[in-house]
Amino acid sequence: MNATWREDPALRDVLAAAETCWINPQMKSFAAVADGLPVKPEEVDDAADRLDRFAPLLRRLFPETEGDCGRIESPLRELPVLREKLSWRERVPAGRLFLKLDSELAVAGSVKARGGIYEVLKHTEELALEAGLLRPDGEYADLAGQRDFFAKYTVQVGSTGNLGLSIGIMAAALGYRVVVHMSADARQWKKDLLRQKGVDVREYDGDYGKAVEQGRALSDADPMSYFVDDEHSKNLFLGYAVAARRLAEQLAAQNVTVDDGHPLFVTVPCGVGGAPGGVAYGLKLLYGDNVHVFFAEPVQCPCMLLGLATGEKDGVCVQDAGLTGVTEADGLAVARPSKLVCDVMEHTLSGEFTVADGQLYDDLRALNAAEKLFIEPSACAAFAGYRGLAQFPAAQSYLKARGLAGKMENASHILWATGGRLVPPLMRKEYLAKRL
Ligand SMILES: *Cc1c(COP(=O)(O)O)cnc(C)c1O
Repeated sequence: MNATWREDPALRDVLAAAETCWINPQMKSFAAVADGLPVKPEEVDDAADRLDRFAPLLRRLFPETEGDCGRIESPLRELPVLREKLSWRERVPAGRLFLKLDSELAVAGSVKARGGIYEVLKHTEELALEAGLLRPDGEYADLAGQRDFFAKYTVQVGSTGNLGLSIGIMAAALGYRVVVHMSADARQWKKDLLRQKGVDVREYDGDYGKAVEQGRALSDADPMSYFVDDEHSKNLFLGYAVAARRLAEQLAAQNVTVDDGHPLFVTVPCGVGGAPGGVAYGLKLLYGDNVHVFFAEPVQCPCMLLGLATGEKDGVCVQDAGLTGVTEADGLAVARPSKLVCDVMEHTLSGEFTVADGQLYDDLRALNAAEKLFIEPSACAAFAGYRGLAQFPAAQSYLKARGLAGKMENASHILWATGGRLVPPLMRKEYLAKRL
């Protein structure tokens, strides 16, 4: 491996596990790179249509989706009180502040409800069409009564927790046999919840990559088993990408303009990259260069940052950089990024912010006190993008170089809250009291 990146001054703080802002030197105009990307806009349309076809089934299986007619969607909430409180204490960027509450998503309580559920549904559609259980224009809701059919099939996934919850809950509801391979970082309550749903949860001592590897091998050996491959799955990616078009309606409803004079800044917590990558791609399709997407990762686990900054993509892991990969942000505890997502983000990501674990809990508490909202620690990484934009010289240079510094009064900031609803009351208390 070419290791001259170790001398790169832009990576000095990353290697020292200090909070930092990394601006992507390879970022290009979206119009110039869109055609060369390994995903196409039509594929996102196709995913959105498929989710619409399945809405009646979701409505039948999960009454909580009734209000949204079987759509799994989350609100966009403005945070005026928190914005004001933060601005008393520290420098924050001008513009309105919003939280995208994927933490409240139905069924799985995290952003994984988008990608994970989508992939299970896509697999289900293929099986059902092939077996003649379903006609293309047929009643998707009737699949709720085919448990005996789906029980012959297994769905497996490797997970740090939330992907397992999403795949496990959805697949078990249809009647599949489900095996979730959990990494050592996975929280106990997530394993307990899955076992209650009848899911076979296997635990591994190793990290996330190990859990995925084991799951993939076991699934590949079984012709009746389907493996949801978080490290390579385009289906997961497409499920996440659908988020953007629904967000566009919500922004319009809150009188948020996104154009050349009104920049939109979005920060999404990143693990292997699928969720933030899909969201980012969907947003770029809608808003092009007027949306500036940043990812946020823990200081000890910035795998996507390293993959992109070194150009090694999935050829580098955080341990190669002398980092531990250990973090309180269980959903982000992934040591090696997805190659697919690196390929998509190489020229489309604006940059990254890293965050120390202690900051996650401080922001969790501040959000709860100001807005009465609860999100899980991993989701709090998004706050690093908000304060970071105003506080890091590299971020300030990014704004100046693009002529954005004078437009910030018209800017909007969206922090993507990636999970939280299913956190049990006792764990919430513990998180809210935690200081590192
Ligand atoms: C999975 C997850 C992420 C990141 O998604 P990736 O696809 O792994 O990058 C962020 N936050 C939470 C809470 C998650 O569960």
